[in-house]
Amino acid sequence: MGEAQRSFALPTDTVLRCRGWRQEGLLRLLENVLAVGEAPERLVVYAALGKAARDWPSHDAIVAALKTMAEDETLVVQSGKPIGILKTHARAPIVIMANCNMVGRWATPQNFYDWEAKGLICWGGLTAGDWQYIGSQGVIQGTYEILMRIAERHFGGDLAGRLVLTAGLGGMGGAQPLAGRMAGATIMCVEVDAARIARRQAVGLLDMVASDLDEALRLAEEARLQRRAVSIGLCGNAAEMYEAILARGVIPDVVTDQTSAHDLVYGYVPAGRSVEEARAMRGDPAALMAEGRASIARHVAAMLGFQRAGSVVFDNGNLIRSQALEGGIADAFDIPIFTEAFLRPLFCRAIGPFRWIALSNQRDDIARIDDHVLEAFPDNRIVTNWIRLAREHVPVEGLPARIAWLGHGERTGLALAVNRMVREGRLAGPVAFTRDHLDAGAMAHPTIMTERMRDGSDAIADWPLLDALAMASSQADLVAIHSGGGGYSGFMTSCGVTVIADGSEEADERIRLSLTNDTSLGVMRYADAGYPEALDEAAAKGLLRFPLENAAR
Ligand code: NAD
Repeated sequence: MGEAQRSFALPTDTVLRCRGWRQEGLLRLLENVLAVGEAPERLVVYAALGKAARDWPSHDAIVAALKTMAEDETLVVQSGKPIGILKTHARAPIVIMANCNMVGRWATPQNFYDWEAKGLICWGGLTAGDWQYIGSQGVIQGTYEILMRIAERHFGGDLAGRLVLTAGLGGMGGAQPLAGRMAGATIMCVEVDAARIARRQAVGLLDMVASDLDEALRLAEEARLQRRAVSIGLCGNAAEMYEAILARGVIPDVVTDQTSAHDLVYGYVPAGRSVEEARAMRGDPAALMAEGRASIARHVAAMLGFQRAGSVVFDNGNLIRSQALEGGIADAFDIPIFTEAFLRPLFCRAIGPFRWIALSNQRDDIARIDDHVLEAFPDNRIVTNWIRLAREHVPVEGLPARIAWLGHGERTGLALAVNRMVREGRLAGPVAFTRDHLDAGAMAHPTIMTERMRDGSDAIADWPLLDALAMASSQADLVAIHSGGGGYSGFMTSCGVTVIADGSEEADERIRLSLTNDTSLGVMRYADAGYPEALDEAAAKGLLRFPLENAAR
């Protein structure tokens, strides 16, 4: 089938095309990541190169396998390409995958690009390659929670009358303007590609676009003084704009960045270059990377300037500090990473981004689950606050879905309740449960998730690997081990898991084992590193059977 004729429409009924809902559910999730992805005709879901499958023949073979497989078989996927179907048993995962894992010393961006060009490997991002991405909602919520933690810590709980400066309106970064508005801030977003700005404005993520820096600053100042929550887009290069804003003495309250700084060949556009010029330079990656790094050095120098002038500045997980360090900015890591600065106490209790997706494609299913969550967790302010806001503001993209930060025990309880709702016919169809890879036990990433761990275990990748092994032996439906690609090569290892609530009693068991063991391992990981919150949680939930040497240190 030619790429041009491909349809990315999603089923709107609950007619099975596979031999069971476990296979059908995973097929619908694969279809969904393409339906909501940035460049589905190239199989790209987000982050410049994060793909749902290696190439179209691989994609088509995965679809054919899911449609014909029995429940006692397991599809093996290697970096987006199906390798075989193993005879296993009805409690084994339907799909296991390993995406973009390269051996330590060889895990370099150059090797990744070479092997990718030869068709040997592809990068699955975090939730692209294992079909868990739900569009911008996940990152809207993550960014909103970070901003709210900043509001609580620095601004008396409220961002009204505060200016947030950020950049990048891509697949993930496009969520920033809405997250900022939901958090009550005036938010200015610099983006080099006018088409991306138009796309975010068209779907209501971005409120208005300024014609130049002067107008952007004027609009932002008016809104800030009137304490209006509003988002303003500005077309330009972030390195240049951040420098110019600093030079004018405008000091935002909060500064971050979500350009694709992790990828200097397919993502970041160097200062002084148009999008087209940067694209044309891809044939000379070394030159493009050198320009990109020099530009990021200016970009981060300006962020450090804002920090010295009093802004709350943080790295939002796009590797910008590491690139700046290589570009000669010795103090780049004076900028803190958002996880350590704002989220670690939550991860210690395995509270993290949990998500559910209505496989029926019916919005009412999510509305009913929202109602249930509000009833079931009335005292959980983070969750109830988010669900109420999300209902009002978050656009539906692809299959209706919801994300919320839930912890150990809460996730299992919710999924079991939903499975019962499916069984009793209170929902139109089955529901998939999954989570971000940026979750307590699921990721080793020494410059994002596990930076400056209390016991120094930042770069130890045993935890996500153990998580994947635990998930495969806990009856999850899909288990994936991912490592970084592009500029993230060698930077991270993570584990993805999905379980389908099809209403069956077998699904009860799959949910109970996989979701409980996933969060148990998360608490254990932080308890082992000696975090008091995790030790408390582990003691309260009876999770530790061995004395932890590290905990005493
Ligand atoms: P994307 O490639 O879809 O979008 C990046 C955007 O940045 C593009 O619109 C591009 O035009 C713009 N851009 C590039 N260079 C620029 C420059 N110099 N000035 C202004 N704009 C520029 O990527 P994405 O999916 O939006 O992800 C962005 C980054 O955030 C990636 O590095 C991704 O890995 C990271 N990320 C981190 C987290 C997290 O850990 N919190 C979550 C999601 C994404």
